[in-house]
Amino acid sequence: MIVARGIDKRFFGEIEKWVVAVLPTKLDMVKYPFLPQTKKYIAELGIGFENIVENQSIRERAKERVFATFDLVAHYREEPSKQFDIEIVSFPVAVLYVSGTGEKSLAERFALFEAKQAQKYLENEKEDVILNIAKFFKWDISRTGHVPSFAVHFVNYLSNATRGRLVHDARWKLVNRLVEKGQVYVTKEEVCRLLQEEIRRHIEERVKQELGRIPREMQNDVDEVKAAFLRNKPHLEEFDQIVRAEESDYPPCVKGLFERATKGQHLSHVERFTLVTYLIHQGVGVDAIVKLFSNVPDFKEDKTRYQVEHLAGMKGSRTAYTTYSCSTLQTHGVCANPDDPICRRIKNPLTYHLKKRK
Ligand code: SF4
Repeated sequence: MIVARGIDKRFFGEIEKWVVAVLPTKLDMVKYPFLPQTKKYIAELGIGFENIVENQSIRERAKERVFATFDLVAHYREEPSKQFDIEIVSFPVAVLYVSGTGEKSLAERFALFEAKQAQKYLENEKEDVILNIAKFFKWDISRTGHVPSFAVHFVNYLSNATRGRLVHDARWKLVNRLVEKGQVYVTKEEVCRLLQEEIRRHIEERVKQELGRIPREMQNDVDEVKAAFLRNKPHLEEFDQIVRAEESDYPPCVKGLFERATKGQHLSHVERFTLVTYLIHQGVGVDAIVKLFSNVPDFKEDKTRYQVEHLAGMKGSRTAYTTYSCSTLQTHGVCANPDDPICRRIKNPLTYHLKKRK
């Protein structure tokens, strides 16, 4: 039986040598489980494979983390569980499970999903926490004390702004940025978005490490995860073609609806349907969508949650609804700009970002 020391090496690799400021709370480790403090904490708990085998809650939560990356109607908890130890340990176990499947595309999905979760947390953090996380990745970064709040060395900036979806967005090109003495000025939101890329790559590297021998019970979990992923894989590839837009890529109709919901303005039934189905297809979680509507005058959380879950296919027919076509939205007066050069070439808002990137 392999014990905790072996797990630590596998899970956390080289990261211990990196010096970071202390993020002392358990909640920090829940939010940023890829940091070395988590390794130290798990080592102190003395948890080894034998404990994990016996602890169904850790294994279930680990599987849930992985399922959430490809089961598009899964109800993944966006808020961390109050059982922090389970939450913390479930991350490296999930890494191990993904690694065990040997599925490259699952590794990429998992890394992106976890990095997006971390980004959401970062956006609500104070600047010094963001600074600490960036320094963990050895960024040359400082606070400016004014707007934009951060200055990032251009090498760190470019190594993230030229990857993933950011590469398609002119806003991130260096020529469009304020640069002074090799430092690129960025807002808090932009730093968090750049960090998402950094975290994604970091997790992806960890997941791609080879998996050694593990106990039979955990191997069964790996087999279960892999079988479920392979069942979903053909649909996922198709799905990835039409969804996953950055917020800046949202079509004019959705942008307008999004802003109105944020401001607490009334949305008609068709407008709500459009916004919710669009966001569901972008992989936005139920909790986040429910929260988006919380300022709307007639907001009732239970009712809204039920409706969102229904549209996501988590209730009733178990089928996720698709956003109406542009022609239907024009009939209902929801279309915001049919003359937009991209809108003229599409039939459904879901494909707007694909044309935009081209
Ligand atoms: S053409 Fe389609 S995507 Fe564009 S604003 Fe109208 S409904 Fe939205």
